[in-house]
Amino acid sequence: MKKIFKNQHLMLESFGYEFLVVCPNCNSKSKVISLGEHSPYETGITKRFICLYCGRTKEFVPKSNCFNQSIISYGSKWNDGFINIGGVFDWYFGYPLYLQIPCSDQTLWAYNLEHLEYLKKYVQAELRENHPYYLSVESRLPLWMKSAKNRDVVLKAIAKLEQKATQN
Ligand SMILES: [Zn+2]
Repeated sequence: MKKIFKNQHLMLESFGYEFLVVCPNCNSKSKVISLGEHSPYETGITKRFICLYCGRTKEFVPKSNCFNQSIISYGSKWNDGFINIGGVFDWYFGYPLYLQIPCSDQTLWAYNLEHLEYLKKYVQAELRENHPYYLSVESRLPLWMKSAKNRDVVLKAIAKLEQKATQN
């Protein structure tokens, strides 16, 4: 039976409640969370970095503009003073994502395990609905991940990241 991926219209922003990142102090798995509403559009929310391995913590409240709106940059590059969405790092501190792996000359990455599972379901599906919602995660996935010929190699990379995510 063909598997069908039902678009859930989840946006990248939906997974921003937790980022597994590489601790800048000890290189272990650590995380960035929000103390409150995790939407990047919500202002005045403290963001916290925590490493359970070496004990380092750091807090940060992103700046907002004079209209009390979040200052967001979308793209793969880090811009100081912005909340940066779309690169291979968390949005607030810019620490490298823990769940990243080279795959098909590109980098496959996910913020957390739920995000990874979402990507897996998408790639596993042999049939996909047309016209995904233009801001959804699936509409923004790079073509190399959507291509059927890369399915096996992408799924192998996802399996490695799953293993990594559940290790200490
Ligand atoms: Zn650490």
